[in-house]
Amino acid sequence: MSTDDKSQRKKRVKKRRVHMSVQDSEERIRNFNEVALGYTAEEATEEAARCLQCKRPRCIKGCPVDVKIPEFILKIREGEIEAAKEILLCTNSLPAITGRVCPQENQCQEFCIHPDAISIGALERYAADNAERVETKISQRLNTKVAVVGSGPSGLTCAADLAARGHEVVIFEALHDYGGVLAYGIPEFRMPKKIVRAEVAYVRSLGVELETDVLIGRTIAVEELLTEYEYNAVYLASGAGAPNFLRVPGETLNGVFSANEFLTRVNLLKGYIFPEYDTPVTVGERVAVIGAGNVAMDCARTALRLGAREVDIIYRRSEGEIPARLEEIIHAKEEGVVIGELVSPLEMLGDNKGNVVGLKCQRMTLGEKDDSGRRRPIPIPNSEFIFPVDTVIIAIGQKPNQLIAQTTSGLETTRWGTFVHDEETGKTSRDRIYCGGDVATGASTVILAMEAGRKAAKAIHQMILEKDLGITPEEFIQ
Ligand code: FAD
Ligand code: SF4
Repeated sequence: MSTDDKSQRKKRVKKRRVHMSVQDSEERIRNFNEVALGYTAEEATEEAARCLQCKRPRCIKGCPVDVKIPEFILKIREGEIEAAKEILLCTNSLPAITGRVCPQENQCQEFCIHPDAISIGALERYAADNAERVETKISQRLNTKVAVVGSGPSGLTCAADLAARGHEVVIFEALHDYGGVLAYGIPEFRMPKKIVRAEVAYVRSLGVELETDVLIGRTIAVEELLTEYEYNAVYLASGAGAPNFLRVPGETLNGVFSANEFLTRVNLLKGYIFPEYDTPVTVGERVAVIGAGNVAMDCARTALRLGAREVDIIYRRSEGEIPARLEEIIHAKEEGVVIGELVSPLEMLGDNKGNVVGLKCQRMTLGEKDDSGRRRPIPIPNSEFIFPVDTVIIAIGQKPNQLIAQTTSGLETTRWGTFVHDEETGKTSRDRIYCGGDVATGASTVILAMEAGRKAAKAIHQMILEKDLGITPEEFIQ
């Protein structure tokens, strides 16, 4: 390294991170507009210039879909945003989405060797949002077809990868809108619908067809997709949309929602743009959200925007163990969400009209570490108290809906209701049926659902080449 290079590197190492601007907290709790505003061109160039362009980039090790991180960052530094996006799209079909919701602090950024890790996610978002037009590359058509069940990140990724390899792909979606949790779960202020639509449009531009309002397992059976409709393979990416409940008295009272129902009402019925859409979702003045993951934070922040005066997170462990992304916790607190740690609900109390009015809770303390590596919450005797509430939202996790498992013979499931599958390929216990994302792992993350989609697409492609076209992957020239 020359002396010049050394001094450049020293300067880069010393530079502090450029933070994205965010809407002011007082302002943003009165609207559903996106909280993080994204980099300007100057900010993005300045942040990209901090990257040390490591010869052996450790950041890539932390990325489940192997994004070529230094390469795309270099293109941003050089002002070539289209080229940066093209690099992203080589391994990640949904960069505007991952740039927004990936827990980068525990992935690529955790591995970054810069003393103040490069904001890889914010740069990814910048390139994805600002590149004007990117050419799509589609391989030779193969006259083969694959059915994908579910249009969440796993289904979209698998479909895009298979279409790019030359297969005809149809995604069947049960709801009337595409995107899975990206559309019906994550609120507008974190994941604007127009961003999801633009990413879906890219997947479509590869030739993928999307059919809504088709509930596989009822409208069409998985078996029929393979026999009557003659699909060469089926990829099951139906997510984990069935909510877990507490199983305590009072859960059926008016004003008690599962997180899934609450967020779906706000997102898909457009409760977030009332009065333009006359489907308001009303919350009371005091809202308790049970749970402390990303879903709970989204519910709490949505309730504030819908007019709640006080929103409390009820969490049975301590704040240090909260599973939500750090950024979400910080934003929620800035907006006024109160974190009630070491509290566990025992019962929901109603009035004589059947409306919830209180939450009977118990205080907890922390014991020894459990299997999850976190300290186990233990009830404190005689510590019960009543917490007055008008609305309760239960956000303690989701599991897969069992419709497909129950209507497809030979498809084995685990005791958690997920499909038994091979982790490397997504292959289920049935020939030609693959799975991935939350339906295979239980509720997880967008990027892991996408990684599973990529792996399954590769395996399905190989299976079709060998079994149906009689050629080896080595003989297949793209
Ligand atoms: P989904 O996104 O659940 O998509 C499954 C799709 O399949 C749905 O559209 C569903 O309607 C459809 N479907 C289901 N059954 C059928 C059927 N029988 N026939 C046809 N279609 C069917 N992860 C992060 O990484 N970062 C975050 O910040 C984050 N925040 C989250 C916030 C919320 C509120 C929620 C609920 C989850 C969050 N997650 C987050 C988790 C992440 O969204 C999921 O892990 C991811 O969406 C799983 O992708 P998937 O494609 O497997 O399933
Ligand atoms: Fe750049 Fe950090 Fe990756 Fe090195 S590890 S290439 S500094 S992002």
